Amino acid sequence: MQCPSCNAANSAEARQCTACGTRLRRRRNSGVASEAAVNPWIHSSNRMALTAYRCSLLAMIPFLGLALGPLAVVLGLLGRRSERKQPSERGAGQAMAAVVLGTATLVTNWTGLFFILRGIS
Ligand SMILES: [Zn+2]
Repeated sequence: MQCPSCNAANSAEARQCTACGTRLRRRRNSGVASEAAVNPWIHSSNRMALTAYRCSLLAMIPFLGLALGPLAVVLGLLGRRSERKQPSERGAGQAMAAVVLGTATLVTNWTGLFFILRGIS
């Protein structure tokens, strides 16, 4: 990045200007990105992560979790991958929450079903 006081070119990671020693502030790429940084839950363009998160919330409803739990995990992992490719999309928090919640709901639902079926037979 460019030094604001002497215009010397510095590396993107530089904290100080190599020419004059001025402190360099890291700038966000765009207004959208910095808004997303403030509230990553709302300002996310990562649809996969958002869908995964919603699925994982719905998966907490008994029996819906049988199908939505695994779906949330898969979508969460896909959302995480898409966030890695395109960090501006954000949504890492949602993706991770979806994976964690999805795993929890799928385990509890399938375990519950297992015990119900074992109790019947
Ligand atoms: Zn400078």
